[in-house]
Amino acid sequence: MRFTNLTRHTEIGANSYLLELAGRKLVLDCGMHPKHEGEDATPNLRLVPDDALDAILVSHSHLDHIGSLPVLMRRQPHARVFMSAPTAQLGEALLHNSVNVMSKPHGGGGGAGNGQGSSHGRGVSGPPPLFTHREADQYAQVWQPCALRQLWSLEGERLARPEEAEVSFELFDAGHILGSTGILLRAEGKRVFYSGDVNFLDQNVSRAASFPGVDGPPAEPIDVLVVETTRGDHPARLGVTRADEEARLARGLKEVFAREGAVLVPVFALGKTQEMLAVFLRMKQKGLLGDVPIYIGGLGTKMTEVYDRFASSSPRLLPGLSLLHAVSPYVLSGREASSSPIKPRRIYALSSGMMTEHTLSNKFAQRMLGDSRNAVFFVGYADPESPAGKLRAAAPGDSVQLDEENPPVEVRAQVEVFDFSAHSQREDILNYIRRLQPKKVLLVHGDPGAVEWFKSTLATLEPGMEVVIPPPGEAVEL
Ligand SMILES: [Zn+2]
Repeated sequence: MRFTNLTRHTEIGANSYLLELAGRKLVLDCGMHPKHEGEDATPNLRLVPDDALDAILVSHSHLDHIGSLPVLMRRQPHARVFMSAPTAQLGEALLHNSVNVMSKPHGGGGGAGNGQGSSHGRGVSGPPPLFTHREADQYAQVWQPCALRQLWSLEGERLARPEEAEVSFELFDAGHILGSTGILLRAEGKRVFYSGDVNFLDQNVSRAASFPGVDGPPAEPIDVLVVETTRGDHPARLGVTRADEEARLARGLKEVFAREGAVLVPVFALGKTQEMLAVFLRMKQKGLLGDVPIYIGGLGTKMTEVYDRFASSSPRLLPGLSLLHAVSPYVLSGREASSSPIKPRRIYALSSGMMTEHTLSNKFAQRMLGDSRNAVFFVGYADPESPAGKLRAAAPGDSVQLDEENPPVEVRAQVEVFDFSAHSQREDILNYIRRLQPKKVLLVHGDPGAVEWFKSTLATLEPGMEVVIPPPGEAVEL
């Protein structure tokens, strides 16, 4: 049994992992790096021989997990591709958006921080798009949607018992975004569990992960755990709950509206947009928001439609609720980014979450920051190098350059950060690892500081556990 990390660096980027077990080869996830372009944005797919894969399994539909799937499929004509049903629908919309981003002269080559826009202008002479709309259509047709908590063979057949196939897999809800899963593989008498991106706590729409061993000892021991470490470099803020953050956000909004300002909430189109719509809906139901109009972007609307389509058939909170119907947000197109008037007492929940150049949130920020009545409220992760990261690090009165074409803008608006992360905090993941007691842990999907925190903490707390940071491009024997 062998595992090869196909990412190019130890980081959160183009996530992809090659697994060889029971004489079969499969790839877990095939993401696109939001900050790179052309081939640099893909995983190191040269490590996978042509036409060698039996299967590709996709944990969820964020760009950094599914964005390069067409590039891999082009060279793997016989690989079957498996994912949950919502992941297939969200993923198809995301890949088409990614083609649009890659095709724009100023778009990013790599594309999109979980949705759209790259942080690097590509210029007119940038690399051509990595795939076409036509390929995205063609490939999406052969994806096989798989029900959760059901045993499947790599041939795509339902199994009653794992022994019926040399390799079987089973998907578990990961609580991260709609359709997100952890993947349990059984082969050679062993069990390998890949977490994908996970949240062990309830959000507003997504329900806490229901992974093996999450409440009580696992039904069967897990031999190898491959686990994400996104928040490994940040300690949990003790005693701060999601409800506290929601109350603080409601107070913040009220203050801005009282001074006749508008609020920009930069969000990822997929996941964060829907979670925030549910937050605003609850505030409205509690009478905390009045009838303040809420604006979202075009891709956010498309993704919300998929959330609504699965409102009764996915594991989630607020079952049956149609967000678009209940919240009735106004939809802004990219073309309106510079022309749409910014009015007081409005919420603009626009992507991208990192305020990537040329996105709606970036353009709105440039128009809103100079007015001290306005506010920018961040609700998720931002890379420190991204425009959002720069703005978050700025002091009031500083000037911040948010894109390459325009002069820096003076920050006169209020800037606040709220914690509505879709990822588990590191303490919850650590507790899960300790409860599961796998023989071996592979730490992935984290920047160097994040994976190192898990490695050193586990060395102290679980000295008998073998903990590995899989080096990019090198096979690890399991
Ligand atoms: Zn994700």
